[in-house]
Amino acid sequence: MIKKFIRKILGVKDKPTARDLTQPVILGQADHGIDPKLLSSNAIRVTSSLQEAGFQAFVVGGAVRDLLLGVKPKDFDIATNATPEQVKRLFRRAFIIGKRFQIVHVMFGQDLLEVTTFRGAGEINAPKDEHGRVLRDNTFGPQHEDAMRRDFTINAMYYDPATQQVLDYHGGIADIRDKTLRIIGQPEARYREDPVRLLRVVRFAAKLQFTIEPGTREPIHVMAPLINNVPAPRVFDEMLKLLMSGHALACLQQLRKEGLHHGLLPLLDVVLEQPIGMKFVTLALESTDDRIKAGKGVSPGFLFASLLWHQVVEKWTAYRAAGEAPIPALHLAADDVLDSQTEKLALQRKIGSDMRDIWSMQPRFERRNGKTPYKLLEHPRFRAGYDFLLLRCQSGEIEMELGEWWTAFYEGDISEREHLVETAHAAPGPKRKRAPRRSPRNKQSETSGSTIEE
Ligand code: ATP
Ligand code: MG
Repeated sequence: MIKKFIRKILGVKDKPTARDLTQPVILGQADHGIDPKLLSSNAIRVTSSLQEAGFQAFVVGGAVRDLLLGVKPKDFDIATNATPEQVKRLFRRAFIIGKRFQIVHVMFGQDLLEVTTFRGAGEINAPKDEHGRVLRDNTFGPQHEDAMRRDFTINAMYYDPATQQVLDYHGGIADIRDKTLRIIGQPEARYREDPVRLLRVVRFAAKLQFTIEPGTREPIHVMAPLINNVPAPRVFDEMLKLLMSGHALACLQQLRKEGLHHGLLPLLDVVLEQPIGMKFVTLALESTDDRIKAGKGVSPGFLFASLLWHQVVEKWTAYRAAGEAPIPALHLAADDVLDSQTEKLALQRKIGSDMRDIWSMQPRFERRNGKTPYKLLEHPRFRAGYDFLLLRCQSGEIEMELGEWWTAFYEGDISEREHLVETAHAAPGPKRKRAPRRSPRNKQSETSGSTIEE
């Protein structure tokens, strides 16, 4: 105790390896300072139901990390020694999901809580692929083994709402205080077991503005290609978390810094290596980050449509140069881009169709006479298409005037709209060069705006 006190005064830190990793450091409310008001009542409901049934139950992972940082967690994960079947029996709406990693979803109205049974150290013996990636992992074990299996020290703490104690096995509290992101265990081995952790490092470092501990950072560059070996839906999930973190721009910059974008995800190659598209993407991500921070929803379709727009524009121009009419050329370009990304990113069908809607609406904004603008206004995804148009204006791709016209039209009353349509033909066209010159046939196909709709 005295030794520890002297070390504390001198600022000497315990080496993580010197600690007995089977015993947690236990902190009371006065030490960790978590504000119990930040806890969700449903999280308490789940932990207390499990505890009343004789099981151990804790809030775990990101929620504890956020509570320690004084941030209200966006969701709550619960860890317990009850098996998934035992958890399921205790709640009216509970579903066992997952194969590789079985968990229980407990629902209260719209609120979803993930309940996980403590994982055992069986990762060593778990079935793996030829690159060392763990394929299935449903071996249960004691809490200290569960802690060892988590990714970062700051994500491996357990909070018991009943006793208000935090259990820290890996020096997570110290790392939170030092703003350090440190992987648990031997970094190369942990990345090999689950290469998605490479993306998670980047997400947490950017989101929390933590420094990546040198040993955690060093192997990232060399191990980056292992991501190619991860099933596309998992990469997509992690990418979505990254893009929806409220720090998407910082995350993408960090991915680039860590050499994780190159040849890794085709989407990021496109986005990060195209200076022309960068302005547009930066604006799109800034607006996404602002929306998330303001608690507003963001549609993944809009996000991916923005990230890939310049690739679409490039192909659209090429198809038109090869003689295709503008609208079919845009459809062909959209097909090419969606095909190339779907394979790798496992874009869900709904997201793909939202992206296509947003893209194919764009040329219709150029048609401002007759009934066309009124029809476009009724499009179910008008708002997304219009927001997208504004981003194109702000990035300098097209004239501001077009966006301003649409804002006035969208917000105007009947007579203002009539006036806008009457005077619209005098307005200057888009900035973008048209290639090739429009033939009468092309013009015809563009005027038949309704063909854009599938
Ligand atoms: P967020 O606030 O973004 O949700 P989080 O830390 O809660 O962050 P989740 O993806 O929700 O992240 O995961 C919950 C917890 O599960 C993590 O805190 C971590 O302890 C553990 N975990 C998740 N993914 C992995 C992984 N690939 N390897 C090891 N542990 C993981
Ligand atoms: Mg979480």
